[in-house]
Amino acid sequence: MAGEPQADCLFCKIVAGDVPATVVRDTETTLAFRDINPQAPTHVLVIPKAHHQDAVTLAVEAPQIAADVLREAAAVAEEEGIAVAEGGPGTGYRVVFNTGTGAGQTVFHAHAHVLGGRGLNWPPG
Ligand code: IMP
Repeated sequence: MAGEPQADCLFCKIVAGDVPATVVRDTETTLAFRDINPQAPTHVLVIPKAHHQDAVTLAVEAPQIAADVLREAAAVAEEEGIAVAEGGPGTGYRVVFNTGTGAGQTVFHAHAHVLGGRGLNWPPG
């Protein structure tokens, strides 16, 4: 059933406390923790605690929780000091949802990457 924990899901195991993570924010519906392989000085993942396979599925199955994930991504950026709208390189941040293997998704439990603290190029690689 949509949202139910999956036994073989890494991020469900982090939510359950069975796999350790460096948690930076914890709400009723979401968890934010540092990426184990950071691609920028700030690289935090924000996930719904419920299992949904990707961001679009989450938005369809549980739109309120999708909104919670985005709100928490903004809160992480504030806490990390990167939520500066009109600064130079290293200010501002990117929220990325890799969706599908071809776009780089490797963990099939919805997650937002919050990236910042360095200049970010566009288009992304
Ligand atoms: P994806 O490639 O968009 O699916 O992102 C998955 C992310 O999870 C990658 O950036 C990984 O570095 C990260 N990751 C994998 N295992 C762990 C872990 O145990 N703790 C924290 N982050 C992880």
